[in-house]
Amino acid sequence: MSLWAALAVTAAASAIGYYHSAGPRRRRLRARPFPPEWEAILMRNVALYRKLPQNLRAQLRGHIQVFLGEKDFEGCGGLVINDEIRLTIAGQACILLLNRPCRYFPGLNAILVYPRAYIQRARRQEGYIHFEDERQINLGESWSNGTLVLSWNDVANTAHDVRDGHNLVLHEFAHQLDTEDGVGDGVPLLEQQSKYFHWAEVLNREYQALVNLTRKHQKDVIQAYGATNPAEFFAVATEAFFERPVLLHRKHAELYQELRDFYQVDPETWNEAREQL
Ligand SMILES: [Zn+2]
Repeated sequence: MSLWAALAVTAAASAIGYYHSAGPRRRRLRARPFPPEWEAILMRNVALYRKLPQNLRAQLRGHIQVFLGEKDFEGCGGLVINDEIRLTIAGQACILLLNRPCRYFPGLNAILVYPRAYIQRARRQEGYIHFEDERQINLGESWSNGTLVLSWNDVANTAHDVRDGHNLVLHEFAHQLDTEDGVGDGVPLLEQQSKYFHWAEVLNREYQALVNLTRKHQKDVIQAYGATNPAEFFAVATEAFFERPVLLHRKHAELYQELRDFYQVDPETWNEAREQL
């Protein structure tokens, strides 16, 4: 049994109880009027929002209300949290919840935002990392203790360019979905137990292909960072799914279909502009 198949068996046991009732509090939050200045921030900062069909934009605005009503934001390193920061983060994170029986990232309580990339702390979990001047610099981290850490500079930059396959918020919140079953292993909670084996089969095959390609220093529509481990592969594949859907579908049809089945949206149909490899 492959690693991914074993992970899928474990994860399938967690599928029961996936559906959560929305609850009256969340219904009230979703029904709150959405301030025009908030929408202006989304239009200005979140390129994916501009690509969304109108019905999904409306649904997203409701999810954002719940998200902002339930999650705490904390500025770090001198950064003062404002609506622009809150909306730019929530507006992207909640794209992962569209059309799904969502639980609003139940393991997440607080989002810590630094002005820019920050020196890595001692206890890292799944994070989005790059190296610079031989020091390890973090753009973001997703912790299992209810905290997510983001660099505002990189949030803003990766939100503006919707075609390069890099999106820090989508990446870190994909890790949040992945760890809803308690384990960050590239196998999020799926709707039905019967889906786990196909998920494991497709994602394992695609992951191994990326590992082989990366060893040969060849580029793909999926970032090489996904070859780090199955958890990073899921997070990076999520970025490609939303940011380069046409290319991902053309080059990795089964993976695209698996992610479309999971995310319950089809970003390829939103596409307006040519994507960059
Ligand atoms: Zn990551």
